[in-house]
Amino acid sequence: MEDFVYLCSWKADNHGFIVWLKEHPHSKAAGRTIGEAVEWLTEAVRADGGAITPTFEFTPPLPANGGDYQFRNPDLVTVIGDERFETNQPRVQAFASETERRAAAEWNNQFFTGNTCSKCQIPSGPRNDRLLELTHMRAGYDGGFVSVGAGIRCVFSEEFLNLLTEQERQFLELRPVAAIRRGRKRFFELVGLPRVSFVGVSCLESSGWECPKCKGQCFGYFVKGLPFRNFVACADLPSALPSVFTVGSYWNTELCITTHRWNSLVGKKGTRGLVSHPLGAVPEDYVARSLKLKLLE
Ligand SMILES: [Zn+2]
Repeated sequence: MEDFVYLCSWKADNHGFIVWLKEHPHSKAAGRTIGEAVEWLTEAVRADGGAITPTFEFTPPLPANGGDYQFRNPDLVTVIGDERFETNQPRVQAFASETERRAAAEWNNQFFTGNTCSKCQIPSGPRNDRLLELTHMRAGYDGGFVSVGAGIRCVFSEEFLNLLTEQERQFLELRPVAAIRRGRKRFFELVGLPRVSFVGVSCLESSGWECPKCKGQCFGYFVKGLPFRNFVACADLPSALPSVFTVGSYWNTELCITTHRWNSLVGKKGTRGLVSHPLGAVPEDYVARSLKLKLLE
């Protein structure tokens, strides 16, 4: 069976935690910590003939552990379709000629106001008005992503976007995608500059690189025991926090939803294949506006 996003739930008991699949409650596992229980759930899903590398979406959200709390005020997630959709970008095979590689790189250029860097593929300007063309979307999924240059573009189904209120949709800039093989669902790309940019965190070790050619940076966080891959500064958030807005960098726009609001949506028709990732909110004392990263080789 292929990879799949499973809706799950959890509860605490005297021994630790119990986790299970909502649609198949007999697929369950227990552990002394929530992490251990989730690890065993992966095994249980495999043993029951489910996905080899399952993705779990928990509702209610998993409990925060001690180190998380300082980054959960407000409590935010990014939401993305858990599947790479295909575009009409020319494929670069192994040992492709310089001409073939250049054709694939030039395909990236048409979607940004500046060319993409030949070394790191970060564009020198934001997304332009050209429509993305998709050649494959996973059946049944309400979202996915495609790679364009060094970044990703996120697309969501009309059905998902209709779950949001009109007021919430006002905070999003959406553009229809052109589907070469037309399915029944209509998809929209999240475009426009993100409302809030990702920042570094001075008290955590970052992973990533800086391009020696264009000085573009690409970074994230993979800290053991911390669920956050990206962070925003609390001070950058709008004072009246919308339940839905965009985050990222000028070449990567992602959907951010308050955990509370996402919890009211997850599991509804229109959210199939969508997963949430905790987004850390950093108090000003720990915000790093510039990061020293290793140079891209
Ligand atoms: Zn570069």
